[in-house]
Amino acid sequence: MPGKPLQDCVDLHVHTTASDGSFSPAAVVELAARSGLAAIAITDHDTVDGCAEAVATGKKLGIEVLPGIEISLDFVDNTHLLGYFPRGYTAEFLSAIATLKAYREERIPKILSKLEELGCPVTLAEAQKESGNDVIGRPHIARIMLRKKYVSSIQEAFDRYLASNAAAYVRKRKFTPEEALSLIGRSGGVPVLAHPVTMDMESAMLARYIPVWKKAGLRGIETLYSEYSIEQQLFLEDLADRESLLKTGGTDFHGSSKPKIAIGSGKGNLRVPKSYYDRIVGN
Ligand code: AMP
Ligand code: ZN
Ligand code: FE
Ligand code: FE
Repeated sequence: MPGKPLQDCVDLHVHTTASDGSFSPAAVVELAARSGLAAIAITDHDTVDGCAEAVATGKKLGIEVLPGIEISLDFVDNTHLLGYFPRGYTAEFLSAIATLKAYREERIPKILSKLEELGCPVTLAEAQKESGNDVIGRPHIARIMLRKKYVSSIQEAFDRYLASNAAAYVRKRKFTPEEALSLIGRSGGVPVLAHPVTMDMESAMLARYIPVWKKAGLRGIETLYSEYSIEQQLFLEDLADRESLLKTGGTDFHGSSKPKIAIGSGKGNLRVPKSYYDRIVGN
């Protein structure tokens, strides 16, 4: 593996088969332990179903596993909120998450009927099977479309059909930023804005929203991420420092659906210091 080793590093943004990652929670934790990471957070889209297995595997292998989530928000495209739960989940939080799953379940059949009209039929049973009967996301549909040769890559499936400006897109009902911030805060979690510079918004505008969201409960921003340029990283670190927010970082590891992103190191050079993890869990 190229680059510096991952000892004393963490990865606070990791997906499993509980959402659209390709490794099971146990396999992700095994991989993280083998890579030498000190801790990881499990942040599946709109579900915490993978966390118990991951935490149990972490205990066995001697790597710290922080339960988390990544919630898509009703705001500009790609506005995602990470929530970290060092003290576990509350009953209120779990029932709110069930609502998110229901929102997704409303949406998938609508996407599939648009695809059928567009000459690319995918059945609900196929989508369920691809997701392992867990949360179904657009990446699962994209994988089936690739297998059926409707498209020649996952990216083409998004560009032509599934992206927010494409032919088979269906909006999903989502929490507003204020709803999600308040929910995570009330539940004893630490809300962190995921990959802010990938949101569909100018950075000057983003800088104006951060203090507003901080008042609503935002505790941190993801300042280290696989896809940032150095300029973007510095912009976010400066923003976090100015607003006295926690800095966090992670790769957004998904396994084979994002094959260029490795756990812990992203495209090779990402290193997230363990101190970022310690501040979230209150060490
Ligand atoms: P969903 O959970 O159904 O909203 O799908 C969200 C996931 O789809 C994201 O985590 C990305 O992995 C992927 N995704 C969303 N938009 C795009 C895009 N334009 N190109 C490639 N992948 C995308
Ligand atoms: Zn994903
Ligand atoms: Fe995200
Ligand atoms: Fe993610």
